[in-house]
Amino acid sequence: MRASVITDKETRSHYCKICNQSSRQISNIITHIENAHIQIEAYECEYCGLKFKSNNHRNMHIYRKHSEERQKKALFANFQ
Ligand SMILES: [Zn+2]
Ligand SMILES: [Zn+2]
Repeated sequence: MRASVITDKETRSHYCKICNQSSRQISNIITHIENAHIQIEAYECEYCGLKFKSNNHRNMHIYRKHSEERQKKALFANFQ
């Protein structure tokens, strides 16, 4: 989630983009973002049960890992 961290070069501080909390240590901010702003992994893969933090992540996973199952499922659906 580095995209959510802003680094001020003059003060050498790192800021959370979401709530502006600051710290000299980037790892503190990353931990803060993970704890405070990232939702629980609420999106479950219907094929293998893996959980993801966003619908996009899940769709990407299904696209990459389960393309065969998807095709079979689509075929099967056509025969019903
Ligand atoms: Zn924050
Ligand atoms: Zn899966």
